[in-house]
Amino acid sequence: MVKADRVAKSFGALQVLKGITLEVKRGEVLCLIGPSGSGKSTFLRCINHLEQVNAGRLYVDGDLVGYREKNGKLYELHPREAAKQRRDIGMVFQHFNLFPHRTVLENIIEAPTQVKKLKKADAVTRAKELLDRVGLADKADAYPAQLSGGQQQRVAIARALAMDPKLMLFDEPTSALDPELVGEVLGVMRELAASGMTMVVVTHEMGFAREVADQLVFMDGGVVVESGNPREVLANPQHDRTKAFLSRIL
Ligand code: ADP
Ligand code: MG
Repeated sequence: MVKADRVAKSFGALQVLKGITLEVKRGEVLCLIGPSGSGKSTFLRCINHLEQVNAGRLYVDGDLVGYREKNGKLYELHPREAAKQRRDIGMVFQHFNLFPHRTVLENIIEAPTQVKKLKKADAVTRAKELLDRVGLADKADAYPAQLSGGQQQRVAIARALAMDPKLMLFDEPTSALDPELVGEVLGVMRELAASGMTMVVVTHEMGFAREVADQLVFMDGGVVVESGNPREVLANPQHDRTKAFLSRIL
């Protein structure tokens, strides 16, 4: 579902991604960890067309992200084509980014009705199913500010799912939450993983990584330092940088 082949990204003179190579198979969960500034968010943003890769190749479900390849040359995708690829990818951010002046239900039906041109009645039916799935069936008419952070993040997950994505990206989805609210969001993510969703999750929740992820990838300084089965990486990190990082966060 995701294939990164020596993906590089610079901002001016600052090279943030220095050749990331990894693969996420359909239905797999990959957890991405690493110190602040190591390029985790930039990598997710490249997958989701929020940043353009400078070198290397990035594919989602077989499609080259951001470019079209013709006779060995790369051409930037027209924004319309990029938007079309992006529709199939859901992203959840640390700060939930809900529309504050819209109800929970309105937040969820916005993209399906505007972007996918779904009929409103159908979008509402689907939104209610999703709210039920994230445990918020009774909050359809609430405004974001009336919800806890954990509830807002669950709405954000439902909103992303409303577009029927084939891939879900999570960028530190629980980092802004009070500790007692983390579990309810991880619970929803755990169920989503169990349902077969392909997920790339930037997180420092090592319990989640150990129990849910198929792969754990440790990034530092724009490179993949170490990756593998989460239990093995956590129990027996091979690199000093991985050991040092894990000893700081565990
Ligand atoms: P992480 O998510 O691992 O903390 P980021 O991907 O957010 O790391 O950032 C990696 C580096 O890239 C940081 O040094 C950050 O300042 C820099 N960076 C990220 N986005 C931009 C941008 N749009 N312009 C310039 N520098 C950026
Ligand atoms: Mg980040």
